[in-house]
Amino acid sequence: MAKRDYYEILGVSRDASETEIKKAYRKLARKYHPDVNPGDKEAEERFKEINEAYEVLSDSQKRARYDQFGHAGVNGQGGFDPGGFESFGDFGDFGFDDIFDAFFGGGFGRERRNTGPRRGADIRYDLEISLEEAAFGVEKDIQIARMEKCPTCGGSGAKPGTEPVICPVCNGTGKIQRSQTTPFGRFVNVTTCNHCHGEGRIIKEPCPRCNGSGRIRKSRKIHVKIPAGVDTGSRLRISGEGEIGEKGASPGDLYIFIKVRPHKFFTRHGDDIICEIPISFVQAALGDELEVPTLDGKIKLKIPEGTQPGTQFRLKGKGIPHLRGYGRGDQHVKVNVVVPKKLNEKQKKILQEFAEISGEEIKQHHKGFFEKMKDAFGV
Ligand SMILES: [Zn+2]
Ligand SMILES: [Zn+2]
Repeated sequence: MAKRDYYEILGVSRDASETEIKKAYRKLARKYHPDVNPGDKEAEERFKEINEAYEVLSDSQKRARYDQFGHAGVNGQGGFDPGGFESFGDFGDFGFDDIFDAFFGGGFGRERRNTGPRRGADIRYDLEISLEEAAFGVEKDIQIARMEKCPTCGGSGAKPGTEPVICPVCNGTGKIQRSQTTPFGRFVNVTTCNHCHGEGRIIKEPCPRCNGSGRIRKSRKIHVKIPAGVDTGSRLRISGEGEIGEKGASPGDLYIFIKVRPHKFFTRHGDDIICEIPISFVQAALGDELEVPTLDGKIKLKIPEGTQPGTQFRLKGKGIPHLRGYGRGDQHVKVNVVVPKKLNEKQKKILQEFAEISGEEIKQHHKGFFEKMKDAFGV
């Protein structure tokens, strides 16, 4: 059911003043108030209608939208997005306190339905950092090339000394509104103005520097703060540091895509760090105190006697700081027991003795058949 015109409901003209609207509303509200008309359904409907009309017409912003776009402008009907509301929250400005994987399905950047000139494009920048930088955060200057506001015309696109003129076809609204009266009510159909392509303004003499686009390409150094705890695949959004939109429209965002380089001896599993340390079988058997590298520098780790190959020791809180929230992951130290490949005569003798004491019988083998073959034929 199409709605009635708000001015018609209140019985005022389209150029009625605020006072006139208020007066008309009071009069009608008194007349149709449910207390005055108990049980009268029609009066109740009228009363609701009057209130709705007054709510819009008494608010200058709502009234302007209603004047321009009809009911669609104030109810969000008809595929028109009233105002320039962001569909997705804005995650702070230049700060990085937000925003990892704060993404909304496919691609990057937000889609915005807007009536004005189109917002500038987002920029993607791939940044490779070390594991230490990922762990503790880092500040970097990055160089990007982007479209910026043309300094000659100040982004208007018009030759200095001239100004864009208001589109005569749409009167600067960028929209063409056609209303149609049918037996069911008045319908308002809103389309983009073809003359100015929805911009509401027309440039008669374009700026010579930017050819009327209002923007030029510039190389720009941006200081970025990478917070502690990021990982490969983390994405940071820097609001408003993307390309400027055409004709001075708001800029897009800059997205930093993080890639963490592989580390010499640390592997990362979530916020935990794993490293492998080689120890001798003597160390494993007798126990020892090792110096172990961590993200915070070397620390001492006691391994007990009788440590088996592959045993893992946990260094609590020596992993990567959690990106969200407090605390850190752990470091796991895996010991690899290394069996010596070459022993001198004295070492062999001691081990033989060791075996004898342990009750082991070692069949000391000198060169066997296969080794002799190898020596002889080099196979
Ligand atoms: Zn220009
Ligand atoms: Zn126009």
